[in-house]
Amino acid sequence: MENLQDLIPIPAKELMNKGLSAARESTMLRVLGKPGALSRDCSDPTGPFKKRIKFGVNVGPFKVSGLDYAVESLKQLFDQVKQEKPDVYNAVKTEGVLCVRARRTNPARYSNHSWGTAIDIYFGRKTVAQGVQQTQRGVYLLFPYFNNHGWYWGAEFSGDSVDSMHFELAEETILKLKQLQQLKKK
Ligand SMILES: [Zn+2]
Repeated sequence: MENLQDLIPIPAKELMNKGLSAARESTMLRVLGKPGALSRDCSDPTGPFKKRIKFGVNVGPFKVSGLDYAVESLKQLFDQVKQEKPDVYNAVKTEGVLCVRARRTNPARYSNHSWGTAIDIYFGRKTVAQGVQQTQRGVYLLFPYFNNHGWYWGAEFSGDSVDSMHFELAEETILKLKQLQQLKKK
């Protein structure tokens, strides 16, 4: 069997992230508020937004800390993977979800990990670094599940920003979240 950690080409843009776009910082700030300090390395979440973070939740293959909605979405997504692709489910690892910090490629803006709405995943011993125009086969097999659950795949980021181990709740999903929040308030 081919290895899930093998590097393969990133699919054409039109084959991924259909109807989904990367979540903009302005949207994240508007819907969820300031997550904490714009630090280089991970810092603690602060402010009212912190109440929405669930810490150390088992989502199936591993435990994560992240936004309530994101954590629940990961549970549902991995439950489906468990049924349909058990080999992938058993081998997938995470490099983390919540991490309040600036983007590596733009220190003036927050990474979407800051709100616990992004996850980095990998197979085998090594992650694929940002900027590498390839993806691990296992991540490739998982991207349709993430897309179906409203997560945008960072393999579509252009140039040096390409980040094939990274998924984040899409702009469209965050905007739906905003509608849900408003309904709750009524
Ligand atoms: Zn990431």
